[in-house]
Amino acid sequence: MSAPGEVKNRHQEFGLILVRCIVVVFTFLVVSGVGILVNIPPGIAGILAGLVGFGLIVGALFDVVHVSCPRCGYNANLLRNTGSFKCPECSYDMYIYDGNIKPADINEKQVTWQS
Ligand SMILES: [Zn+2]
Repeated sequence: MSAPGEVKNRHQEFGLILVRCIVVVFTFLVVSGVGILVNIPPGIAGILAGLVGFGLIVGALFDVVHVSCPRCGYNANLLRNTGSFKCPECSYDMYIYDGNIKPADINEKQVTWQS
């Protein structure tokens, strides 16, 4: 059973890397193309396109992080900003953001505190 946002195997992880490369190349071409259309010298357009592509690679685009469930230790590969994630083994609710695990019940505590 696979939970939403979970990367189950190497093939899916490879697919994500492939998609990332396609997005980077596509962005590179679009930025270069726009540069030509608005008559930016090709050298400058190339540098701009390179910077955009570099930003996409460095940024957390489809980045996969390895997390383990705080309750049962289940290991999962998840997208860095998966968001809500329920452990497939013990149904522990957590929130994955920027590669960090936060228990989903933080919200419940806040509701209790307010009332
Ligand atoms: Zn678990």
